[in-house]
Amino acid sequence: MRWTAAKDYTGVVTTLVSTLEEIRGKVQGGERISNEDALWLWKNAGDAELRELAQVVRARFVAPMACTYMIMRIVNYTNVCVAQCDYCAFYKLPGQDGGYVLSQEQVFAKLDELLELGGDLAAFNGGFNPHLPIDYYCELFAAIRARYGDKLEFYALTIAEFMYLADHAKLTYAAAAERFKAAGVRWITGGGSEILTEDFRKRHSKFKYTVAQYFKAQRALVDAGLKTTATMVIGFDETIAERIEHLDRTRQFQDETGGLASFLCWTYKPYFTQIGGIEISTSEYLRHLALSRIYLDNVPRIRTSVLTQNERALEGLLYGADDFDLPIEDEVTQKAGATISLNFDRILAFAKELGYTPSYRSVTASA
Ligand code: SF4
Repeated sequence: MRWTAAKDYTGVVTTLVSTLEEIRGKVQGGERISNEDALWLWKNAGDAELRELAQVVRARFVAPMACTYMIMRIVNYTNVCVAQCDYCAFYKLPGQDGGYVLSQEQVFAKLDELLELGGDLAAFNGGFNPHLPIDYYCELFAAIRARYGDKLEFYALTIAEFMYLADHAKLTYAAAAERFKAAGVRWITGGGSEILTEDFRKRHSKFKYTVAQYFKAQRALVDAGLKTTATMVIGFDETIAERIEHLDRTRQFQDETGGLASFLCWTYKPYFTQIGGIEISTSEYLRHLALSRIYLDNVPRIRTSVLTQNERALEGLLYGADDFDLPIEDEVTQKAGATISLNFDRILAFAKELGYTPSYRSVTASA
């Protein structure tokens, strides 16, 4: 039975209960929820009900009170970008004051500091810099692999940057993937996705790639044997239907390829951006995490964002997440208002207070 307009209060309650029971039956029976179910849950389920259903799916992948984390650094190797996304407070146009490109020595200094702080994962994220040839990247990544071997793993680029570089070098995605593999790259993450609907792209990042191109590139990475992830950012002006469309595309891609190691959602930071806005509440973020965990029944790891939610991100463990980063730097989100704490013990204590036992997950072990 579905939600229908009922004339009296008793009728409304009866319909709500029976619809929830129907969806609960699906989730408990291992059946996939539909987009309509997801929308219904978002509109009608309480926090406790979302948590309960998310825990059912979570338990298929990880022991109930277990969770994992990594210490990582986002290395923003250049802030020069021609994409001009209107939600970005990080970029400088070519020739504009304040634009930079990091040298190999500057990157090494950042990676050395990461190792000193107990981390072993770096994620490279910059802009669409027309002055940087693909050789800059291949030489940088080869030098990192030569210097650090398996002591440290790195997410080489986001898919958005990968696409720009391939186009700029006039290479197919498959050929570009092979170039990066030869340079020692193992991972290219699903970053730059934000909200994967064509309409959202047109509204906010019309110089970026289409959603269809995004998945074409990600498929080429998977086919080339590179590892990848799914990401999502909420809290712009996207509708709930757009959020569900994003989840739908992600689930379909995973059905077709099995290539997504994890799903990470974070929240838009509106400070100093062109479009501005107001941050969504942590409670809305947590509800979305739960919905993602329930919906993405084929993605093994759901990650919660300490970078944008600080220690309150750990409540995401109650809402179906099982993994998180402790970041030491990310200029992109920091420029738009994110704050980072290096007091890892305090953040981990928060997870323990919730009853979870966090254990360090070295991405180098799965490299
Ligand atoms: S979000 Fe990324 S691609 Fe868009 S303008 Fe900022 S740096 Fe460029």
